[in-house]
Amino acid sequence: MIKIKNLFKTYPPHQEAIRGLSLRVLKGDFLFIAGASGAGKSTLLKLMLGQERLTQGEMVINNVDMKNFTPKDLISLRRDIGIVFQDYKLLLNKNIIDNVSYGLEIKGYPKKERYEMALKILKSLKLEDRAYDMPMTLSGGEQQRIAVARALIHKPSLILADEPTGNLDAQMTSVVFDLLLEANAAGVTVVVATHNLSIIEELNLRTIVLDHGKIIGDYDNPRGNE
Ligand code: ADP
Repeated sequence: MIKIKNLFKTYPPHQEAIRGLSLRVLKGDFLFIAGASGAGKSTLLKLMLGQERLTQGEMVINNVDMKNFTPKDLISLRRDIGIVFQDYKLLLNKNIIDNVSYGLEIKGYPKKERYEMALKILKSLKLEDRAYDMPMTLSGGEQQRIAVARALIHKPSLILADEPTGNLDAQMTSVVFDLLLEANAAGVTVVVATHNLSIIEELNLRTIVLDHGKIIGDYDNPRGNE
């Protein structure tokens, strides 16, 4: 699902963000990307999504060669990816339920069906009573949960999340991770960048640690063998 070999990304003129990174993620895997601020976590996710172009090396995501992709490749790739990024804003002119079900609308689902699916996921995130409100009336944490709902609803084959619980308290963090784990159990590949070490320890799933654009650790069970 994700094949990366000797990847480099340099932002002009010479800010090296990724420096010789290789990684393989199989279909159905769950991967944490850990590392201090500035380590390259967001850059790696943006490269996977085609939001940034790689400088050197190889990267294939869902069979799309990220070195030579066409705008058409990018559209079909993103249609199959659920994205939870801080800067991937909600659509401000649409209410919550239309934001959450937007991915289904694009795929041609009838309104009744997509609203039913949206309400179900909003309920699990305890936001069903905000379904017909506009995004601007929600707190940062509520908007973040909406972004998670939007990413999960169209059953993508891959979810890319950058600090998906950055604005959430412990209880909501665990609600969001329960949803990500549920999707993963149903076969969705999940990649989460975070510096929340307590959630990484708690879930004890494969974790790569980045430092200055390189992988300095790759642990199947970060908590160690108990
Ligand atoms: P993280 O997500 O781990 O905090 P980033 O991927 O955001 O790390 O950043 C990695 C490095 O690349 C940092 O040194 C950062 O300053 C730099 N960087 C990130 N985005 C840009 C950009 N658009 N232009 C120039 N440098 C950038």
